[in-house]
Amino acid sequence: MRVHVDFGLCESNGVCMGIIGEVFHLDDDDMLTVLQPDVTPENESRVQEAVRQCPRQAISIRE
Ligand code: SF4
Repeated sequence: MRVHVDFGLCESNGVCMGIIGEVFHLDDDDMLTVLQPDVTPENESRVQEAVRQCPRQAISIRE
């Protein structure tokens, strides 16, 4: 399972980074990067929280 971001929907507000900064990172130019796309037992609950909290519904978890 991997993290997918629809960059066409993302508005770079940083909500996801605030929930799990080791996976999502906004740089100084407000470009979002997925640092670690693999969903692991350790990060799964927080990645799911980012999916729920993203105000643009831009994040999904895919096979
Ligand atoms: S929470 Fe959603 S809209 Fe905000 S930076 Fe993350 S992916 Fe983009």
